[in-house]
Amino acid sequence: MAEVLVLAEHSDSGEVKKVTCELLTAARRLGSPSVVWTGPGAPEGLARLAEFGAEKVYVADSPDFSGYVVTPVAELLASLVASAAPVAVLVAGTAEGKEIAGRLGVKTGSGVLTDAVDVVAGPDGAPSVEQPNFGGAITVHSVVRTGTPIIAVRPSAIAAEASAGAATVETVEFAASDAAKAARVTEHVVAEKGERPDLTEASIVVSGGRGTGSADGFGIIEKLADALGAAVGASRAVTDAGWYPHQFQVGQTGKTVSPQLYVAVGISGAIQHRAGMQTSKTIIAINKDPEAPIFEIADYGLVGDLFTVVPQLIEEIGKHKQI
Ligand SMILES: Cc1cc2nc3c(=O)[nH]c(=O)nc-3n(C[C@H](O)[C@H](O)[C@H](O)COP(=O)(O)OP(=O)(O)OC[C@H]3O[C@@H](n4cnc5c(N)ncnc54)[C@H](O)[C@@H]3O)c2cc1C
Repeated sequence: MAEVLVLAEHSDSGEVKKVTCELLTAARRLGSPSVVWTGPGAPEGLARLAEFGAEKVYVADSPDFSGYVVTPVAELLASLVASAAPVAVLVAGTAEGKEIAGRLGVKTGSGVLTDAVDVVAGPDGAPSVEQPNFGGAITVHSVVRTGTPIIAVRPSAIAAEASAGAATVETVEFAASDAAKAARVTEHVVAEKGERPDLTEASIVVSGGRGTGSADGFGIIEKLADALGAAVGASRAVTDAGWYPHQFQVGQTGKTVSPQLYVAVGISGAIQHRAGMQTSKTIIAINKDPEAPIFEIADYGLVGDLFTVVPQLIEEIGKHKQI
């Protein structure tokens, strides 16, 4: 069976990110998944890759990957595309993943599809990709007709399913070219991480909007998120007002999330906000205006004042946790 290259997202200590398991699940539909592991940590990550169906793991443990932005990764992938002739290359649809996809497309003369929310084998076996377009107003199905399809898949869009694979390691010697070393990383700053899950990786996201009224008022969103073990998101109205940091903004100009459950609290549901969350599996909206557009896409709607509704919700969740 033809190979499908999957670029692993992982920590240096070998922790495999959820999105990698999602990519492996999609890759199994197209062919035989071969993971591309850049940098350290592969021995620790192998068991998880095998659990989600990796048949082969190309390990390229070179310091060049952390020393120079994304260009060495694109260069490595391009050489593997040439040697393995895969049916597709799957990367995470993060800012970094999309940049790698674009660079790889240029290097290999291939078509690139981004923001994929589903990937299946089309009638001729070539990958058929589902993408929401125009802020989610239109869903399109696309195929790549030139070169090797390079597909950036949105994190959390495809549910990861386990299926055993051999995960046979193939060591790859790699040294980036001078051209790939043009932009050097001079410092790594680790972002402060709280107890909450990552916004783009979380299975539950609670987002708050202008309806929370102030930075203090927004605190109620964090309380509900903590009660549910969820990540916190925010509308642009909130981040622009400085009530919550910009990295938590969900939407067209913020993060794209696709959790199992998205709770929108005091958010009107502008098209630009929907663009970042409407592929969530289940959407709950809490808003005092019954005409708010968010209710058009909500699976469950609660009309009421959030400062009355949310504390009751937190209390009920607490009772269920005690049972
Ligand atoms: C180019 C561009 C890009 C953009 N990108 C983004 C983006 O990435 N993300 C994003 O979110 N927006 C984005 N926007 C902004 C977007 O158009 C909206 O302005 C924004 O999403 C509105 O945020 P909101 O829903 O929190 O506020 P509002 O639209 O003001 O809605 C507040 C809601 O809270 C409700 N409410 C008020 N008080 C209460 C209460 N006590 N209890 C319950 N409900 C209450 C109201 O009924 C209302 O529906 C973008 C706009 C542009 C032009």
